[in-house]
Amino acid sequence: MQLTASRVFAEYCRRTPTSEKLAADAAEVFPSGVTHDSRYLRPYPIYVERAEGSRKWDVDGNEYVDYTGGHGALLLGHNHPQITAAVQQQLSRGTHYGSCHELEVHWGQMVQQLIPSAERVRFTSSGTEATLLAFRLARAYTGRSKILRFITNFHGWQDHVAFGVTSHHDGTPTPGVLQELAEGVVLSPPGDIQTVRRILGQRDDVAAVILEPTGASWGQIPVPESFLRELRAVTAETDVLLIFDEVISGFRCSPGGAQAHFNITPELTTLAKIIAGGYPGGAVVGRQDILDLLDHQAAAAQGHEKIHHPGTFNANPVSAAAGTTALQILAETDACQRAIDYAGQLRESLSRVIQDEDVDWCVYGMFSGFHIYTNPDHETVTTATINAGRLDYRKLQAAAASEVAMKLRVSMLAHGVEIFGWPGGPTSAVHNDDDLERTAEALRQTIHILRDEGDL
Ligand code: PLP
Repeated sequence: MQLTASRVFAEYCRRTPTSEKLAADAAEVFPSGVTHDSRYLRPYPIYVERAEGSRKWDVDGNEYVDYTGGHGALLLGHNHPQITAAVQQQLSRGTHYGSCHELEVHWGQMVQQLIPSAERVRFTSSGTEATLLAFRLARAYTGRSKILRFITNFHGWQDHVAFGVTSHHDGTPTPGVLQELAEGVVLSPPGDIQTVRRILGQRDDVAAVILEPTGASWGQIPVPESFLRELRAVTAETDVLLIFDEVISGFRCSPGGAQAHFNITPELTTLAKIIAGGYPGGAVVGRQDILDLLDHQAAAAQGHEKIHHPGTFNANPVSAAAGTTALQILAETDACQRAIDYAGQLRESLSRVIQDEDVDWCVYGMFSGFHIYTNPDHETVTTATINAGRLDYRKLQAAAASEVAMKLRVSMLAHGVEIFGWPGGPTSAVHNDDDLERTAEALRQTIHILRDEGDL
């Protein structure tokens, strides 16, 4: 049944009149009424007033278990008291010195301590800026022009990565991106090592290969560990740089990211989200001789022109205060593991609901994340098949973009749970048993409605 005719729609609108009014105002200000594409929702998104721990509250006073997690940045939950205290202290000392400051040094040292490949660190203001800088470094270092990317992998919104994610899988540019720039990128299907071998065997102009090491969108499109190992081997053999985009997986697969968990060392790594403790920030880290291209003396000593890299809010004191505190907590406690354990329990619990209700959906994911595959073709699919990267990425993407997935999100909201559009979400170290029960119950109620309305 169409969302607008559904009980889900009626219940959602009944609960959220103030959000509806704000959304109408927002539609006169912002394209589609939103400030980030992933917040777009029909009939309209909720407007949030405050958040604490694993929960948030909308402007109509409804409470939600939150699985948007600050787009993955809030591994420690909303308003972590130590981070809030560190930021408040910093606010009273100034927010931008336009000068070097002690905290940025401590922040960079924390990154070096946690991320195994971080011989040198360069802070940026976002993950998008980090991937852009990583590409520039890779091209300048190797003198080669192309970046090999995997279809579906998300690396932000800069021009090199704006196509081949959810559309333009043939490598043609999305509107506004130059054809010449798109030609600087070679796309390969996710998890297909033969194609990578063929491309790197045939071409001598590839500077670097970039990927999300746990598969696109925090494992929405998983890749097996064997693929990572083979990719490391083939890039090393062909002398192509390997870039891990750990904007989500960094500090989440383990405090040292995917690279520490899998014990695989990339030449460059891009980081954001958790690194800045819930505030804006990112970084490129990696081998010293590559990051030396940003160094005034070392670049000249290597006979290179230095790469220019300004950025008003790079390592700003507020993000540095939040980031240093967050990374210290991750280094000293089991917070990362708690988020992983909760996600495991949640995946089990949601899988049980699906089995009890005799629905052919599938809950999957790894580490501190979960995904729900709504199986539009009603095939026999198992969690193991998807986690092993054996279900075609086009099926996973089509299901995530379906009307049923949209109804699932709206119904979960109407039952007090906000999930991300994958559909699924990142978990945090502060999700608890009550959150688990509420989420499972919301899914059960959602399935009942979808079944009654002929959507299953
Ligand atoms: N890379 C990955 C893997 C991401 O998930 C994201 C954002 O979600 C980015 C890059 C872009 O980061 P930002 O939104 O900070 O620009």
